[in-house]
Amino acid sequence: MARYIFITGGVVSSLGKGLASAALGALLQARGFTVRLRKLDPYLNVDPGTMSPFEHGEVFVTDDGAETDLDLGHYERFTGVPARKTDSISSGRIYSNVLEKERRGDYLGKTIQVVPHVTNEIKDFLRIGDDEVDFMLCEIGGTVGDIEGLPFFEAIRQFIHERPRGQCILMHLTLLPYLAASGELKTKPTQHSVKELQSIGLAPDVLVCRSEHPIPEKEIAKIALFCNVRPDAVIPAYDLKTIYQAPLAYHQEGLDQAVLDAFGINPAPRPNLARWEDVMDRLTHPEGMVRVAIVGKYTQLEDAYKSIAEALTHGGMANRVKVKAEWIDAEIFEREDPTPRLEGFHAILVPGGFGERGTEGKIRAAQWAREKKIPYLGICLGMQMAVIEAARNMAGIKDAGSEEFDHEAGGKRFTPVVYLLKEWIQGNHVVERKLGDDKGGTMRLGAYDARLVPDSLVAKIYGSTRIEERHRHRYEVDGKYREQLEACGMVFSGLSPDGRLPEIVEHKDHPWFVGVQFHPELKSKPFAPHPLFADFVRAAVEVSRLV
Ligand code: GLN
Repeated sequence: MARYIFITGGVVSSLGKGLASAALGALLQARGFTVRLRKLDPYLNVDPGTMSPFEHGEVFVTDDGAETDLDLGHYERFTGVPARKTDSISSGRIYSNVLEKERRGDYLGKTIQVVPHVTNEIKDFLRIGDDEVDFMLCEIGGTVGDIEGLPFFEAIRQFIHERPRGQCILMHLTLLPYLAASGELKTKPTQHSVKELQSIGLAPDVLVCRSEHPIPEKEIAKIALFCNVRPDAVIPAYDLKTIYQAPLAYHQEGLDQAVLDAFGINPAPRPNLARWEDVMDRLTHPEGMVRVAIVGKYTQLEDAYKSIAEALTHGGMANRVKVKAEWIDAEIFEREDPTPRLEGFHAILVPGGFGERGTEGKIRAAQWAREKKIPYLGICLGMQMAVIEAARNMAGIKDAGSEEFDHEAGGKRFTPVVYLLKEWIQGNHVVERKLGDDKGGTMRLGAYDARLVPDSLVAKIYGSTRIEERHRHRYEVDGKYREQLEACGMVFSGLSPDGRLPEIVEHKDHPWFVGVQFHPELKSKPFAPHPLFADFVRAAVEVSRLV
């Protein structure tokens, strides 16, 4: 039976609950425990798949094909434990399950209520995989007191009550605002948010207090007294230069010790923090710098490409260089020649995306990288654009394009070298796309195998000819153009196991040009940088040495 740690937040949102949870997971692992991290989101969307990246940041995809919150990405990057469909749940999903059961008659005509039907559904979810790990860390999205969060808090209260004593603890994050006029840190909002928790039957065992200023001992003592928490379980959390400092910083402040104390695990196994010391050493002592241009659409919000930004940092760490990523709005290249803006970058990355806006600019960026022999990494839509570019400018298919944009425009303007896939193979069975499906359900999602062509650049990079990577897309490069494109110098170096779906393309006469139909960034970790990102940055370092 796992021990449960519930992580809640108070006072304001965006306190870094996800990061604190991930760091705690990493610290428990460093002490030899196994962990799984989970996110409970109070919003009513059934999953984050259809939420705007502007509003919600990136959609993180799991091996088993769930579209989840980007916090699951943090969890994976810090613990290396692959997230699963069952690690993320929203109120929308819970209600949708309950209503489905009601329609099926599972409740035998009873009146359906938040307590017990919704709370039971939440508790069932919490128990999944209970016997697999030492610690289950469950983060509750939003802030205590939010209307939407109430069923989750009530379910947690019941859950703690039903478990044997000492099997569950609550960790609460708050903010200590600083009043410049009086030069003081204020503890009242923290006291109030703990009261709010107490009023719904929950009491924190550990309090993590975010603060921009050092918290004096006497304030710690005051918080402990008024919030009914032991003084050594009041953990200061100061701003960090990099998120990867979090495990070491939280360890120094005594977070993992406080958690183990709260469970009565005594003596606590000693931690081995070598992994995080190495990560910090690589991050803080770079021996050079490379500039990478990311030509995309959602450039205003960095969270929209969170995993890509992180994977680039990891690639830099693998090469002991700092990667300076700069975001460029692809639409600019529809009006302007790319050279003045792209010159001086050591590599170009075109990320995934949906819809036609900005795609002509991405095609021009791909062309620029190919012609100037600058390293290019195209991810998903970025691969599709590279293929369209090659079809137009090398194979002479002047009106090459993607069916995605024709569907959007409701007419036929392009020769579709990228087309809508109707059926595909997953494992041993055929998946059929139902036309007119719900928006959320029509993508090729999750982990798929690919076979790499021996001696290709990617086979060398991976050191293997069999890989498994995560997908999230509707459209595919049409294999029927393979011969024509290969005759011009493009190489289809990765294919689905049945040989039908192009997974990776390269250019023969280019030092480093790779387009991938999947999302390698989702599997990169600071302590295990993804080989494609590590080698992409290595190629960028080579370019930087030439100039
Ligand atoms: N819009 C493209 C598709 O659906 C690419 C998706 C992506 O980049 N993730 O195939």
